[in-house]
Amino acid sequence: MSLADSNFPFQQMWYTDSVSDRPNLLFIMSDDHAAHAISAYGSKINSTPNLDRIAASGMRLDSAFCTNSICAPSRAAILTGTYNHINGVTTLDTPLDNSLWNIAKELQSAGYTTGMIGKWHLGHGPGADPSGFDVWRVLPGQGHYHNPVMLEPEGRIVERGGYVTDLITDDCIDFLDDHGDGPFALFCHHKAPHRSWEPAPRHFTKYDDVEIPEPHTFRDDLVGRAEVIQAVRMRMMDLDPIVDLKAVVPEGLSEDDEIAWRYQRYIKDYLRVVDAIDENVGRLLDHLAAKGIADNTVVMYTSDQGFFLGDHGWFDKRLMYEESLTMPLLIQYPEKIEAGSTSDDIVTNVDFAPTMLELLGVDSPDGLQGRSFVPLLEGETPDDWPTSMYYRYWMHRDGSHLCPAHYGVRTTTHKLICYYNDPLDQPGANGPADPIEWELFDLVADPYEVDNVIDQAVYAEVQAELVAELTRLQAAVDDEPFPGAAPRGS
Ligand code: CA
Repeated sequence: MSLADSNFPFQQMWYTDSVSDRPNLLFIMSDDHAAHAISAYGSKINSTPNLDRIAASGMRLDSAFCTNSICAPSRAAILTGTYNHINGVTTLDTPLDNSLWNIAKELQSAGYTTGMIGKWHLGHGPGADPSGFDVWRVLPGQGHYHNPVMLEPEGRIVERGGYVTDLITDDCIDFLDDHGDGPFALFCHHKAPHRSWEPAPRHFTKYDDVEIPEPHTFRDDLVGRAEVIQAVRMRMMDLDPIVDLKAVVPEGLSEDDEIAWRYQRYIKDYLRVVDAIDENVGRLLDHLAAKGIADNTVVMYTSDQGFFLGDHGWFDKRLMYEESLTMPLLIQYPEKIEAGSTSDDIVTNVDFAPTMLELLGVDSPDGLQGRSFVPLLEGETPDDWPTSMYYRYWMHRDGSHLCPAHYGVRTTTHKLICYYNDPLDQPGANGPADPIEWELFDLVADPYEVDNVIDQAVYAEVQAELVAELTRLQAAVDDEPFPGAAPRGS
């Protein structure tokens, strides 16, 4: 006899209490949305009233970091609760093996209806399609902003008319209408605001009559930083005028003026694309409220990593600098999280899966590398909460950005970064091996990271401590140092 056939009230109650009353999860993730383009985080360049609603109803986490600041690897870390050298997605080109454990599979077996709508970017085909999801409809690869094609199970292709952020939200609303009785776990993954920042028509002219302030480090000359950092091609002058800026550079501008002009073109389209995200997050929040399930739904907003919004003169991400390392993370769930609260404690994307599972009352399996930060959400910092995190970016000087491979440690006060070259990664592609270079930043004295103090004697003791912490963390997560990148001074 199945529970559904049972007229025994006790069993029906048991069923109701243990499954149907479990909280739902709405996990909204955008792509490349920097925290400093959210007004709840004190943005100086835009306003995001709907994202701010989540912060006002719940918690804003101020030290949420990605363990590898690039799209597919961060997505893999979130879904699997493991670092990239464990889940295998170290670069953009590695699909996520869909036979691995992921949080959707765990939730599905706990009785949840699971959905994945929007950007997947972890490969396609039998070994890489989304697994653990009852419903999925995803963009192929990066997908398109306008009139996108989307993919469904069994290779079905759906042609859509409209703007991608609106369409993904439409599909999420359909999912809520179909499965809102719960429990459900819906992953709403926006393509926006990824390059090349194409706004919805309704936002084409927004910001036309204003000048967006340049960031504090916009004219950073990068003096004193690692040579491989000075060679990175993420400056305003590296943006493609036609593709990225959708304009022809006016004639007669000095280089300084052209850099300023490029920034305005870049940042305004970025913010227009963010505006559509904000509006659509508002639609989802309103829909949860209209269905009467807002209080029983954990709502999270994050992005797969941060982004440089002209900071240090750059666009893009990849590097371990703060603007790229920091993920926005807003979570509302009135049952456990005080409205308008904040946390400074360090959490990473590897911690997301165990946290979501605990919030939903589902046990985490063995083998996850992250730690649930539910205590932080409840306003308590455990005595043994980590005060450092480990980071590694693997794609050495690939493609057009020329970012070096690097790993490092960020503590609550300092950051140590080791840039290494692995010529074995890309034999012959980049010429002779680059030297190993190190950077050290004092985040208290130098929050903008413009003063690399690696060679200053006064920081020798701090440096030794950070090297020891980096070595400890690397071993703790089962990673290994790059051969030849022995710690300085050892
Ligand atoms: Ca991304």
